[in-house]
Amino acid sequence: MQTAQLLVGLDVGGTKTAALLTDASGSMLGQTVVPTRTATPDELLDSISQAIHLVLGQAQAMPPQIQRIGLGVPGHVDPATGIVHLAVNLNLQNYPLGAALSARFETPTFLENDVRTAAIGAFDALQLTEPVDSLAYVSIGTGLAAGVILNGRLHRGHNGLAGEIGHMIVEPEGALCNCGLRGCLETIVAGPAIVRQMLAAEPDMQIQHAGDVYETAVRGNPNAQKVVQRVSQHLSQTIQWLIMTYDVEKIVLGGGVTQSGDAFLAPILQELACLRQQSPLAAALLPDEKVHLIPSNFNPGVWGAVNLAKQTLLEPLSAPEKS
Ligand SMILES: [Zn+2]
Repeated sequence: MQTAQLLVGLDVGGTKTAALLTDASGSMLGQTVVPTRTATPDELLDSISQAIHLVLGQAQAMPPQIQRIGLGVPGHVDPATGIVHLAVNLNLQNYPLGAALSARFETPTFLENDVRTAAIGAFDALQLTEPVDSLAYVSIGTGLAAGVILNGRLHRGHNGLAGEIGHMIVEPEGALCNCGLRGCLETIVAGPAIVRQMLAAEPDMQIQHAGDVYETAVRGNPNAQKVVQRVSQHLSQTIQWLIMTYDVEKIVLGGGVTQSGDAFLAPILQELACLRQQSPLAAALLPDEKVHLIPSNFNPGVWGAVNLAKQTLLEPLSAPEKS
């Protein structure tokens, strides 16, 4: 029977929940992915609990050995109270998810927005190879958002919304966004937007995911290449904005769309090279080395969630940073 105190990190997505179990030093003891059930808050708690029990089982550990639980949630959350204000994909509104999970496992639970959590995970991972003080993690998936780390700390902003760059307007006459505005960045570069633009050019094409569009572009389809170029132009501009706004040392790209790997990254680096050719300032500030792609087998969300849990052992969870 182990006596070690264990940490659980969870990345709760609209379709899948990933869980990671580590010991107090951060060594991995178990990991799993289960479907997320979202019909009711109780079902959501059941699927999260299932993931936790699975990783405990892998380590032959029991729930009382859990010292802290950290989780990333796709939505607007209040880390200080553990309340999820709004998480559309989880079917939650003003729900005390932190308290509910704490009650189930009789252990403190800490939550944060999923992209901010992944930014923490990406930051920790980078420390192993290239220690930095600051970075912006950009998640490109069903939506688009960033998490910003400044001076080694997560920058949340006044409302905890710092980094919601998916809703920056880049084309005022553009496509209608879920948020009600037109031409948000997300309507061009997020996964569903990439598929939509491809189908606008070739309505009969059999595609489901952004990855299909990247694959078609690599195979030489000119319409797919046009879509990829447009997306890559906007993402290279996004990188430039983030560096100009926050002067971060690294930009880390992750999320489902980045799973296309080199087919995704190479055209973005090409666009950055174009910017460098035009401007000495861009040449100084936008070297390729600033841009990192998250490896496809690494989920920064669960590692960030473990770190979130671990941090609370070192210092009591303080009120959200005001800026
Ligand atoms: Zn929007």
